[in-house]
Amino acid sequence: MNLSGHAVKFLKPSNDNNVVYLDKNEPIIESNVTNFVYNRHHSLSLQAQRQKLPIFNYRNHILYLLEKYSCLVLVGETGCGKSTQIPQYLVEAEWTKDETLIGVAEPRRVAAITLASRVAEETGTILGEEVGYSVRFDDCITNKTQIKYMTTGILLREMMADPLLNKYSIIVLDEAHERNIQADILMGLLKKVLKKRKSLKIVIASATLDAENIRDFFNFNTTKDSVKDTSVIMSVQGRNFPVEIYYLQEPVPDYVTATVNTIVKLHEREPPGDILAFLTGQEEVDRAVSMLTSNIRDNLIKRNPSKQELVVLPMYGSLPYSDQLKVFRRADDNQRKVIISTNVAETSVTIPGIVYVIDCGFVKMRWFNTETQTDRLVVVPVSQASAEQRSGRAGRMRAGKAYRLYTEEDFKKLPLNTLPEMQRTNLLDVVLQLKALGIDNVLRFNFPSPPSAKNLMIAFELLYALGAIDMTGNLTKPDGLTMAEFALEPLFSKMLIESGKLGCSDEITSIVSMLQVENIFVKPRSGEASIRARKQKRNFEVHEGDLITLLNVYNGYRSSDNARAYCSRHFLSYKALQRVDEIRTRIEHTMRNYNIPKSSSNGFSEPILKSITAGLFPNAAYLHHSGVYKTIRGDIELYIHPNSVFYTMQQPQWVLYTEILFTNKLYMQEITNIKEEWLIEVAPHFYRKTNLRDFV
Ligand code: ADP
Ligand code: MG
Repeated sequence: MNLSGHAVKFLKPSNDNNVVYLDKNEPIIESNVTNFVYNRHHSLSLQAQRQKLPIFNYRNHILYLLEKYSCLVLVGETGCGKSTQIPQYLVEAEWTKDETLIGVAEPRRVAAITLASRVAEETGTILGEEVGYSVRFDDCITNKTQIKYMTTGILLREMMADPLLNKYSIIVLDEAHERNIQADILMGLLKKVLKKRKSLKIVIASATLDAENIRDFFNFNTTKDSVKDTSVIMSVQGRNFPVEIYYLQEPVPDYVTATVNTIVKLHEREPPGDILAFLTGQEEVDRAVSMLTSNIRDNLIKRNPSKQELVVLPMYGSLPYSDQLKVFRRADDNQRKVIISTNVAETSVTIPGIVYVIDCGFVKMRWFNTETQTDRLVVVPVSQASAEQRSGRAGRMRAGKAYRLYTEEDFKKLPLNTLPEMQRTNLLDVVLQLKALGIDNVLRFNFPSPPSAKNLMIAFELLYALGAIDMTGNLTKPDGLTMAEFALEPLFSKMLIESGKLGCSDEITSIVSMLQVENIFVKPRSGEASIRARKQKRNFEVHEGDLITLLNVYNGYRSSDNARAYCSRHFLSYKALQRVDEIRTRIEHTMRNYNIPKSSSNGFSEPILKSITAGLFPNAAYLHHSGVYKTIRGDIELYIHPNSVFYTMQQPQWVLYTEILFTNKLYMQEITNIKEEWLIEVAPHFYRKTNLRDFV
């Protein structure tokens, strides 16, 4: 576990901006969301900017509907003013006069913070006073605060202490179209609150049109008389021109190549107008961009009738700010912009000037597999609603065209709507949270889209094996309660709790903190630098696996005299490691609150590995004699991810992984080398000795 100090040439990391900090249950597929905000009126005064927003014309109508209905489902395109304006309209209409608050719940912490800063600026106040925010590990509010932006996780937590949300007059649930787990739990809970507290109003803000289900979920009117409805939809109309849809005659084998070919043809034949193409992930986007640019370089793309040149730009969430900004800038008259984007351009941002859309028909998402009992990242066909949303992006300037890279028959076979996360991921945290909120019968809880009973049962079984609930299904004290309140993945909370007992909480805290931040390693694109980066990473690698390797990185960074230089030298992201430090401090604080003793194993790896096993044991696999890994339960074939230390090192017999990534194969991520007997020691209900013996 020791680090050797190698003399390496100083090299500036190519890009330090790619730090993604994940809140609990934030979507991990960073390329599908962005926190980038484009402001087309930035040169006007703030008040003038506010009045230019499409939502401004609806101000009085929104206020009227909130007097009349208890739930307003507000639909409007990204950028129209939902998140920043509604809370201000509500304050102006005196919804906060009885010292009550307006709460706005956001799926991502960065959104909560930037929105609060923006609204503080628009209202000419100091951030944290009238307008503040509260996110995990960070608060900025006072007793003056009237508008409080927060993450959905924080709101859930507050409901544990204040189930009727008495200090709020209005709750805005933002980005509801994302339908992530916490938003769905919140909707279920808010429905309960509305029944008990008639004075509460809720606004559900969504960027897509699919809103009827949500309205119906909150409608308490059981008669046919719509006058008695308690819930209503309002849409903020943007400009929408007709979009002509084209399908393929035959399916294509490779949609990236098909996208590139379509762009080339389109550019050569169609009149001016920018192009937006949807692919599923960063690698695909980069591949399409480089295919197009090499075509341009080799003059394979002919100029179109109006003699425009093609300007190719990538767009995804982890792209540096300045590159995201380029996508929004107007091209010159003799240029046609083509933006190759992940799902971010579907709802997360609105790119102006698009006339042509190309839709590959797929999207990357997290999907729970009941066989392996793990979440996987998979590429799946989009829903019809998603395809419509993508096409609609072509009709904002003038009549547009959308090219779907699939047949019309295949379109008709697509699911109508995207499955909410609740119906496609593991439910450990859902059960824990609901239990902590005092909901006894989780199976009967009124979810907007109920998960399958089978998945709920799997979650119960695993929570029992983790020691979080007892035989009767109640949270155990203190472990279950601690896990529910820890604001971390339950498996990681378990690791922390166990590390207190095994005398290595210091090390496990570092490891868990490292796992909260993505892109610790800087990966230069160019050949020579990338080889050097890989060599540098090898200095940290150990046969115990990726988690101990992360610990080595953290310890190296921590003990260096000049952390910034250390990071540059070792191709580490300084920014990312600073984040890790912040998170680490917070986790330590929480551990103190829950009386988990601080301790260190002083360089011995066994207690650390055992603590890891105590949390990650459900994710165990063994090396089959055929040379591939298989899950112990379910017998599913798994592969080592190329980022893992075991991709090049000798492969261990028994391993644990943090998650599975599914691209062409099922890849285990962040692998740890363990001993078989530890599995039986820490999870006797889950693995029996006799079962394990069969494998070796
Ligand atoms: P919505 O929630 O409907 O997507 P927002 O209320 O977030 O829209 O934003 C409305 C508009 O306010 C944006 O189109 C942009 O012009 C401006 N805006 C919002 N946030 C910022 C920000 N952080 N910086 C600059 N402009 C912003
Ligand atoms: Mg918004």
